[in-house]
Amino acid sequence: MTGLMAGKRGLIMGVANDHSIGWGIARTLHKHGAQLAFTYQGDALGKRVAPLAARLDSDIVLPCDVENLASVDATFAALDERFDGTLDFVVHAIGFSDKAQLKGRYVDVTTRENFSRTMTISCFSFTEIAQRAAKRMRAGGSLLTLTYGGSTRVMPNYNVMGVAKAALEASVRYLATDLGPDNIRVNALSAGPMRTLAGAGIADARLMFNHQKAHAPLRRTVTLDDVGGSALYLLSDLSCGVTGEIHFVDSGYNIISMPRPDVLQA
Ligand code: NAD
Repeated sequence: MTGLMAGKRGLIMGVANDHSIGWGIARTLHKHGAQLAFTYQGDALGKRVAPLAARLDSDIVLPCDVENLASVDATFAALDERFDGTLDFVVHAIGFSDKAQLKGRYVDVTTRENFSRTMTISCFSFTEIAQRAAKRMRAGGSLLTLTYGGSTRVMPNYNVMGVAKAALEASVRYLATDLGPDNIRVNALSAGPMRTLAGAGIADARLMFNHQKAHAPLRRTVTLDDVGGSALYLLSDLSCGVTGEIHFVDSGYNIISMPRPDVLQA
């Protein structure tokens, strides 16, 4: 425990279970002194999130479905009662797309309806949350979202999620520019493939996982603690000069151009 987050109050959005990236980040932030509030989507997940929050000394567990604007507003109103209308940081670890469209050729499977839904939930929700969070960050703050390298390079089956992540990353840069004068920083972590509920929705996820392990410079996939450590940096004052960044936590996979010849030839 370093006390790096002591006195800071933040909202963690997107914990589904103890494999969630949001959970890994929350765990690390709590270890370094942060006071946390959590949101969950739907009653079934609420039953899972409440005991996890309790493990991190939090009884602030609020429903929030980002597809429904009234739900987002109700979440912030409820949060104000607990945090006196202030907020230091937000972790947006939310993503969704129809699983049936995370399989096959993008050109064949993508529908207008799911394209819009994926964009609303996985991309625009971050902007809507930033609009509300910024009003509460009177002494500055830090906003963090989660992205994936399929935003800039084609990953088989990632399809419309890759398009949404590209837009999410662009949003990070626009939000960082707009909110910078108020000392509110906006960044994204680009995590390597991880075994989570959302991760399992992508066809051949296991293949991607093993490919990363074989070819990334560190020869391994990333852990919840790896992502938690990078989030701690971006949410604490350690990174007070950093905004608008897409920071890779992927064992270095993003720098590789060609798979290892020794593995390919084996
Ligand atoms: P996860 O399934 O544990 O978390 C996804 C969360 O999104 C869930 O808690 C779910 O309830 C929430 N969500 C979905 N629709 C919602 C809605 N309408 N309103 C509110 N919440 C909603 O999976 P995860 O892998 O921890 O995903 C967290 C983030 O990390 C996502 O943005 C994902 O794209 C990103 N990411 C994941 C990986 C990976 O390999 N797992 C890699 C890079 C980035």
